[in-house]
Amino acid sequence: MPDSLEDKKKTDKITGKPKIAYFSMEIGIDENIPTYSGGLGILAGDTIKSCADLNVPVVGVTLLSEMGYFYQKLDENGNQIELPMQFEVSNYLKLLPAKTEVKIDSRDVKIRVWYYKVKGISGFIVPVFFLDTNIEGNSEWDKALTKYLYGGDHKYRLAQEIILGIGGVRMLQALGYTTIDRYHMNEGHAALGTLELYDQLNDVEKVRDECVFTTHTPVAAGHDQYDLSIVKSMLGNILPDFILDDITFEHKLNMTKLALFFSHYVNGVAKKHGEVSRMMFPGYSIDSITNGVHSTTWVSEPFKRLFDKHMPGWRSDPYILRSAQSIQKTEIWNAHQEAKKELIDFVNKQSDVNMNYDDFTVGFGRRQTQYKRPDLIISNPNRLMQIAEKIGPIQIIFAGKAHPKDYSGKDAIKKIFKVMKTIDNNVKITFINNYDINIGKMMTSGVDLWLNTPRRPKEASGTSGMKAAHNGVPQFSTLDGWWLEGCIENITGWAIGPEKTDKAESDDEIDKNDLYDKLENWIIPKFYNDRDNWIRTMRSCIAINASFFNTNRMIQQYVLNAYFR
Ligand SMILES: *Cc1c(COP(=O)(O)O)cnc(C)c1O
Repeated sequence: MPDSLEDKKKTDKITGKPKIAYFSMEIGIDENIPTYSGGLGILAGDTIKSCADLNVPVVGVTLLSEMGYFYQKLDENGNQIELPMQFEVSNYLKLLPAKTEVKIDSRDVKIRVWYYKVKGISGFIVPVFFLDTNIEGNSEWDKALTKYLYGGDHKYRLAQEIILGIGGVRMLQALGYTTIDRYHMNEGHAALGTLELYDQLNDVEKVRDECVFTTHTPVAAGHDQYDLSIVKSMLGNILPDFILDDITFEHKLNMTKLALFFSHYVNGVAKKHGEVSRMMFPGYSIDSITNGVHSTTWVSEPFKRLFDKHMPGWRSDPYILRSAQSIQKTEIWNAHQEAKKELIDFVNKQSDVNMNYDDFTVGFGRRQTQYKRPDLIISNPNRLMQIAEKIGPIQIIFAGKAHPKDYSGKDAIKKIFKVMKTIDNNVKITFINNYDINIGKMMTSGVDLWLNTPRRPKEASGTSGMKAAHNGVPQFSTLDGWWLEGCIENITGWAIGPEKTDKAESDDEIDKNDLYDKLENWIIPKFYNDRDNWIRTMRSCIAINASFFNTNRMIQQYVLNAYFR
């Protein structure tokens, strides 16, 4: 670990000279470091792990978020209580002597930095730097700026983006990195870094040469924007006037537009999301690179053993997972039952729901928010009970946090709790507290069917279904995000609803009926009465989808299309 410049030179020898800086507001790299809220952060962590595996010379930059996102506790009615989730920073990260500072509201805010080392499969190291303002000499308000991920008001958030973007670029220089010539912004949160680069290079084209931007949000309201008056007072004179027309909308600075303006390469995170982004931002050239997951992180222990036995080399080259097609069905089933047992035991220890190892089990785990429709499957409890009585028992496991200010997301959780208490007749439902990397791994590998129900086209990609595929768990999802590319009906899973309806991209009634019809007529009968073909489907998930929807493939596309062109 680089204690000094000398040590850093040694690190450089291991990592090669880092050429790419990867900026992300959240990075979920380690189950003990709770500085992520969900899909975006997990993707960032998986990206960095694959860079390490593939010897891609990257450094990661993020905020410390020393209070984490939050710990989710649910009371008996499903009310979400948010508790701080402070982690013992020095147990996992190493403080470095480098320091820098940024101007916020004309104050100098000091920043220090913590180091985390990601070691790839052949020993290559990718450093990740966590920026921290909790340091002697800063005011109390400034000290708290790197405490809460997505906490606070508009000004707090903008201050965080100044620290991440501008502070991040300066910190890399303070650490002595002189060879970086690509800045990859994972979502618009780091876009202010482009202003620092422009301040230093004084040439728009030179900045564009160095910047790459990945957008993640197919909804206009999801893009960060700030009143220009607030921006000007907080940022001072680093914002050049001549770009204002390009980067503002209705007197607001739009972070996505800023990142678009200064990037030579821009991409969405699935083919459909690329299309949607091109419509949202006409005039920009926007490509797409479909997301993936880090295979070794998300494959459960029983499947790791199975893959090691039949497909050695899959860890460094997940394309090899294609040959899962030749694994015996009984071996796939036994590995699955082992992963399922771990999940069911966990669930039964958490609550008195008393789930069974052999009953058909559905999983829904992700951020609880309205567009993802967590309550779609329980929207007609009678229908669910009829299906279970007719064909076989159904167990449903939910998990996921709602953003503290997402009141409709919180209502969805309460609705699930309400149905949970009254439902009977062979249907069992439970909701696990505090969804995180560990629970995500247990759920995506331990259920029989992975459910995803976003309203089209709001799911940019989605990645949890890819984790499921790595464990032979088929997905049942609306055709949105990556599922438009990954769904082969009855072979890798099933689609909910049509690709589009006449009325709109999504229609709750149509989707709901199709969800129940397919469960009743195709999916659950296949699980209980046609086990051989069910396992065939499981196997195809690994061979067809896990072999492609992984960050190893994804990074190779970034290297070719974004980093080195
Ligand atoms: C994978 C993952 C997500 C993202 O889930 P999506 O279904 O893609 O939205 C969120 N949270 C955790 C903890 C995860 O592991």
